[in-house]
Parts: sequence; C-alpha cells; structure tokens
Amino acid sequence: MGKSATGFGDLGALQEADRRHHYHPFTDPKALVSAPPFMVERAEGVFIEGQGLRVLDAMAGLGCVNIGYGRREMADAASEMMRELSFYHCFAGVSNPAAAALSERLAAIAPGDLNRVFFANSGSEANETIIKLVHMYWRRMGQPDRKILISRDFSYHGSTVATSALNGLTAMHEPFGIETKGHVEHVDSPFWYRFGGDMSPEAFGMQAAASIEAKILEIGPDSIAAFIGEPIQATLGAIIPPEGYWPEVERICRKYGILMIADEVVTGFGRTGSWFGQQTFGFQADFMALAKGLSSGYQPIAAVLIKDEIADVLSSKPEVLQHGFTTSAHPVAAAVALKNIEIIEDEGLVTRVADLTGPYLATKLANLLAHPLVGEVRSCGMMAAVELAKNKETREQYPIDYAVCSHVAQAAIGQGLIVRPAGNVLIMCPPLTFRREHIDMLVRGLGVALDQVYAALKEQGLA
Ligand code: PLP
Repeated sequence: MGKSATGFGDLGALQEADRRHHYHPFTDPKALVSAPPFMVERAEGVFIEGQGLRVLDAMAGLGCVNIGYGRREMADAASEMMRELSFYHCFAGVSNPAAAALSERLAAIAPGDLNRVFFANSGSEANETIIKLVHMYWRRMGQPDRKILISRDFSYHGSTVATSALNGLTAMHEPFGIETKGHVEHVDSPFWYRFGGDMSPEAFGMQAAASIEAKILEIGPDSIAAFIGEPIQATLGAIIPPEGYWPEVERICRKYGILMIADEVVTGFGRTGSWFGQQTFGFQADFMALAKGLSSGYQPIAAVLIKDEIADVLSSKPEVLQHGFTTSAHPVAAAVALKNIEIIEDEGLVTRVADLTGPYLATKLANLLAHPLVGEVRSCGMMAAVELAKNKETREQYPIDYAVCSHVAQAAIGQGLIVRPAGNVLIMCPPLTFRREHIDMLVRGLGVALDQVYAALKEQGLA
C-alpha cells in the first residue's frame, strides 16, 4: 500500500498500527481483526477520499460537517488564532476575544432568551453540563428533590456516565452497569412508523406526548427536574415527530413546572431548515445543547445556552461554579466556530435548505418508496431516513441479525456513497452545501444499493 497523503508513513503499516493500538469508539474491536480500518485520508466539499476511493458523504461525517470539508477560510481562521493565542483558559474571570464574540453571536441567533453560554468540547459534555446545572437550579430554588430527568426511548444524548443514562437504548447502559433508577425515566418516542399502527401521525404524536404526562403523574411532578429531547431523534433512527408533538410537550412541561432541555447537537445550525430545530417545530426550551454544526466538526467545541431567568438563578449567589473543562472556550475552536457561523450566514445555507435542497431531497427520496425493501421515507431539511420493511402492509421489520441496512450501506459505498445504518433505518445527514446534483447522486446510488441487497435477499430466500 502507498504512502499516506498526509505524510505519516506507509498506509498499510498505519492500518496495522491502528489495529494494534487504536481502541475505536462505537466499534467492535473483533471486526477490526478480520477487516482493517478504512483509512480516510482527505476530504473536500462533500466528498471524502481514502485508499483510492472517493465517495459522496451523505452523512457529513457524523452529521456535523454542515459547511462541507476542507474550507480554506476555516483553516485560515484556525491558523491565525493559533499564531495569535494558541491557548488560554477561561477559569477564574479570564476570557479571550474569540470566546466573548462567539458567546454574543450565539445569544443573537438562538431562539428566545437563551442568552447565557457555557462552552464545552463535545455534545456529551454539553448535556452533562446541563444535567449538573439543572440540579443546581433546583437546589437554588429550594426544591432539591426535583432530581429525575425524563428522556425518551430511541434518544441519544452522549457517552459520559450521566448522558449514557439518558440514552433510550439499554444496550448503552448494560455493558457499563449504568443505573437509570432514581435518575432517569424513559417515555415513548414519537416514532409513528414503528409504533403508530392505524393511528394518524398527529394522533400518535399526541399519544407519545401524553406518555410524558402519565410518567409525571406516576412519579410525582415534585420529583422531576427536567425533560430532555432532540427535536428530531437523530442517531437511532432520524425520527421526525408528527405535527403538534413539540408544542404539546412544551405545554405539559410548563403545566408541571418542569425544565425543558433541547438537545440540538444535530439539529442546530440549519440542519432542519431553520437555525435551530425549536424554530422548525415551534417550541422554546430553557436549555439548549449545541455541538457538531457549531464548528462543522473543524474543531471540537460545544455550547450550552441557558435562558436568562434560569441563568439569573444559577448566578444569584456569590459562589464559584465548580464545573468546567481546561479547554472550555478554547480560542482556536471559538474562532473557527465564528467563521463557520459567518459562512452559514454569508452563503444563506439555512434558507437554501428550507427553500431549495430540503424540498428537493424530500421529493427525490420519495421515489424510493416504491422499492420493495422500503417501508417509509422521512425527511426534514437536510436530515432524512429510509426505513426498511419486510412487509410494507404490516410494517414488519427484517430481523436485526440479517443486518440488511448494514449490507445496503456497504453496497452504497460500492456506488460511491456514504449513508449510515441504524437498525432497520438508513440515515442521511448531508452537508448543507449539498446541491441538486449531489442529491441526485445520493438517491440514484441508494436505489442501486437497495436493488443489489434485495436481489441477494431473494437469492437466499429471505425476501
Ligand atoms: N446529542 C445528540 C443528539 C447527538 O446526536 C450526539 C452525538 O451524536 C450527542 C449528543 C453527543 O455528542 P458528542 O458525540 O459530541 O459527545
């Protein structure tokens, strides 16, 4: 194998080094024994390249590269700041110009009174920070028994201990012995296609929202601290809630005085055709978690936005906030995030998704509904899912161990295309810079991949 384009040495030797030494996130280490890691060497625009392949990245990395890869302005912003101020912390009353400017910018674009900003390095850290601040808020309010967080099935909020407990998949708790009891209660997801049966999507959305109220009444409103939700449940299925769901959730939270947390780690920065998912779905949270699209993945940076009224309570006592990270508000990451926001604005990417590419993606993907493997197609802005069904009438799924979606995603790579399998759902979260021609490539490639896998299933008598 040839030399690595980035000058780290022979690619084959690097793959071997990776196999030996790199313990990968969300990877079965055994799978790397039989197949070496796919080495991504470079990326530009909406394409990634590695090992001689060039593929259209319909996942924007992990739903984060909103402005596309390899932008010179971003590299310049990073290198200028690195030369000027490579690092300084923001503890104990110190700040830096980029962090100050970014906090002001975020407050300006955020919905409602989300005007106070705490910086972290990842979505998990942002949500972890919110959990601590929620507990602190209720202690300050003289209601320390409000401890329980309500989360939903199929949610993903992070990988730290506390955020893992929020996740709506027991597979993320069990290996680590993570306890949810006394901390987190899970309620229904508004996953209409999977669980809605004969109900209309709207009626099912109301029923899913009602499961929150039922849980509140079951355990007692005075023991509940907050409800957390992703405007669209991203990682575990790109679950787009039915119309009316979010306003109803907000009504329920307000009725019982429960704080609302919007996890906008994926939905932030234009993905749904508005700056934030709350604007698309019509609700206003008390806390908002941001990461991914905040820097388009060019630097690790995340932010927590806090409503004024709550921030006032949190800062009402002369007491040091016993929380923070060495690299909170890192000047280089902050400068890069500012440049990223400037690019999204200057290029009108949010309205482009709302008016042009979002509707085009929806129309094109709808053609796949006729495919014998496809049960449902759903999309909102530049976020979409193709859900497979063994039986379209009954919505019966293929057994998970058939790994049908993984096979489709693999076949899609053969078509020069990256999509992400999650159970029986294929997820797409492309860069907001996707043009019509990229959407055409995506839908064409996915169609061929579906055909190939369907033919293989038929051959084995499984379809
Ligand atoms: N919240 C949501 C909605 C996410 O999708 C993710 C990651 O995919 C996270 C939080 C965690 O973010 P990170 O991986 O940056 O810790």
